[in-house]
Amino acid sequence: MDEIQLKEMQDEEMINNAFQELLDSYLATKHRKKIEIITKAFNFAKQAHKGVKRRSGEPYIMHPIAVAKIVCTEIGLGSTSICSALLHDVVEDTDYTVEDISNIFGPKIAQIVDGLTKISGGIFGDRASAQAENFKKLLLTMSDDIRVILIKIADRLHNMRTLGSMLPNKQYKIAGETLYIYAPLANRLGLNKIKTELEDLSFRYEHPEEYEQIEKKLAATQQERDSLFQEFTDPIRKELDKMGLQYEIKARIKSPYSIWTKMQTKHISFEEIYDILAVRIIFKPKDNQQELNECFNIYVSISKIYKPHPDRLRDWVSHPKANGYQALHVTLMSNRGQWIEVQIRSKRMDDVAEQGFAAHWKYKEGGGSEDEGELEKWLHTIKEILDDPQPDAMDLLDTIKLNLFASEIFVFTPKGEIKTMPQNSTALDFAFSIHTFLGSHCIGAKVNHKLVPLSHRLQSGDQVEILTSKAQRIQPSWVNFVSTAKAKAKILAIIKREQRIAQKEGEEILNEFFQKEDIEQTSINTEKLFRLHRMNTKEELLLALGQKTLVLGEEDRNVLKEKSNSTNWKKYLFPFGGSGNKQNKGKKIPEENKEEQKADENSIDRKKPIKLTEEAIQKNYIIADCCKPIPGDDVLGYIDDKNRIIIHKRQCPVAAKLKSSHGNRILAANWDTHKTLFFPVNILVKGIDNIGVLNQITQVISQQLNVNIHKLTIESNDGIFDGKIQLYVHDVNDVKTICNNLKKINEVKSVSRI
Ligand code: MN
Repeated sequence: MDEIQLKEMQDEEMINNAFQELLDSYLATKHRKKIEIITKAFNFAKQAHKGVKRRSGEPYIMHPIAVAKIVCTEIGLGSTSICSALLHDVVEDTDYTVEDISNIFGPKIAQIVDGLTKISGGIFGDRASAQAENFKKLLLTMSDDIRVILIKIADRLHNMRTLGSMLPNKQYKIAGETLYIYAPLANRLGLNKIKTELEDLSFRYEHPEEYEQIEKKLAATQQERDSLFQEFTDPIRKELDKMGLQYEIKARIKSPYSIWTKMQTKHISFEEIYDILAVRIIFKPKDNQQELNECFNIYVSISKIYKPHPDRLRDWVSHPKANGYQALHVTLMSNRGQWIEVQIRSKRMDDVAEQGFAAHWKYKEGGGSEDEGELEKWLHTIKEILDDPQPDAMDLLDTIKLNLFASEIFVFTPKGEIKTMPQNSTALDFAFSIHTFLGSHCIGAKVNHKLVPLSHRLQSGDQVEILTSKAQRIQPSWVNFVSTAKAKAKILAIIKREQRIAQKEGEEILNEFFQKEDIEQTSINTEKLFRLHRMNTKEELLLALGQKTLVLGEEDRNVLKEKSNSTNWKKYLFPFGGSGNKQNKGKKIPEENKEEQKADENSIDRKKPIKLTEEAIQKNYIIADCCKPIPGDDVLGYIDDKNRIIIHKRQCPVAAKLKSSHGNRILAANWDTHKTLFFPVNILVKGIDNIGVLNQITQVISQQLNVNIHKLTIESNDGIFDGKIQLYVHDVNDVKTICNNLKKINEVKSVSRI
């Protein structure tokens, strides 16, 4: 037997073992045992992908098997979803069609596979112009059958778990997209565990060093946490035993990604994060009807042992989160003087928290269908948003994303009906949530019987009455303070409609002007006009004319009547050195063509990380203005429209969007050593205000370290100071040295780069 045959046999065995494992875990679930159809789907997919390998060298079929396993064990779905997962890449990657699948496996599975095929290019295609369509497709298929998105999330999870074998630039695209949309989606669907894993995996690829540091610190402090956990939970166990409960107590350790996010947003160090450990009590209710009461009974008995924090009782038991999450959260003071959060949940609530909506189906007979109603409502909102024409996919995405991450408050209508709203909702959001007419004519509100403006932020428990006026019209500025997707989408749609009407009026005004002045109406003449008023498009000009913010007059006449061979007007034409493309009418070159041309022209090797050397700065690459990375930061490159490479921090919000929308223009980038150039950084110093402390700070920076301070602002308040120092450094190591030296000053309590 030769080597190839041997390899084939080994592969065959690996495949069969993996499938057997899938079957075993399926048989262990409560679902009906539809082994036959699953085996048929497996054999079909295996034969269809025959001979194809993944980048890692594994046979391709290993991927669908792994996805099906996630769908079964981690999301808890049944045979239809398992079959669809096994078949999810067949239509995309082989000659089989959706009809073939339908003929063999029936219409339901075919429909799900079709949905998965439609969104197979990622949420966004490789080209910016394909985004809108793909994203809409995703949302539409999702609202058709939620299983499509659940399987898609499983697919993404497996791709993230095996991301190591991809090219670095692809890694950033996939990791970025995961963090931008898949993790929020998983969160919205209640797949907590998967959400956390997706975030951690993305974090690990984008910031490998920070990830490793946090892991190390977590490992180093593990023992301490273990002993705290034991000491803290011992008296609790005794109490729960006395109550005769069946329960389990678990330690919940904060994930590296959330630790890192907290460090970044609060400008604190690992050591300053106090809630790394939380405690979970999972009990089996004696009586399912009494589940809620039992949560509160446990709360009462353990708060006899430890003092509860008065402001930190979170009751997600009587008011579940929109993603179905239920639990009672309390924060107790441990004997070591540390606040510890305790989460009290029944076994059912715990399953829902880990597996999301799929777990609801498992408990269907025991109630809880109310939360499926919440999901239905959310999907309905998404459908409504899709009904409004919105050409810009990224706007649409931002709008939808608003709805994914928000936590909720509860407010009451004047009649006492309860409504769930995202946190930070304003009176105007509330108005739109009830009816578009109410929103678009809202002039203010009464909150708890007091008059408030429409931008007023609502609090849980508020009673809200909306005041309207027929004369009221939507204002563009409203977009700035609403926070729900629905309100935002409605406002934008109405503004757009009004703009279209104004542009039509503007067009008439322009036509009249040309006629009156007896000037030929050509696209060049129109362009002369909008350039004269420092505008970029004809549409802007029409809008300004229609809204009467611009009236054509003397100057316009002169510009148009200058002889066209005189070059005088040309200074208005292309002030930014653009190309002289005068085809405003006629056919437009579609965006994607332009992009493809550029991609061909450029000689950048996208597969290799670019080296950011000191000599080549400004020539080969440009530092992004938004996040201003310095040498040593985790960065990536983005090839912009002018074929320049812009260097962003990997966690920069602008880069996050680019990763999702223009993944094929992302480059991996590494820093070379930088020793001559200086880069600006901001450092935040906090501490106790003492005579001479400012002097010490400046001394450390300028004398010991010989770095120039560019700007220093210090605010002092009741003996505490808050200082912001801007200075110029070579790289991240300089910043670390400065921070470490500043920390040595007695009065200084925290130092961080912002
Ligand atoms: Mn796949």
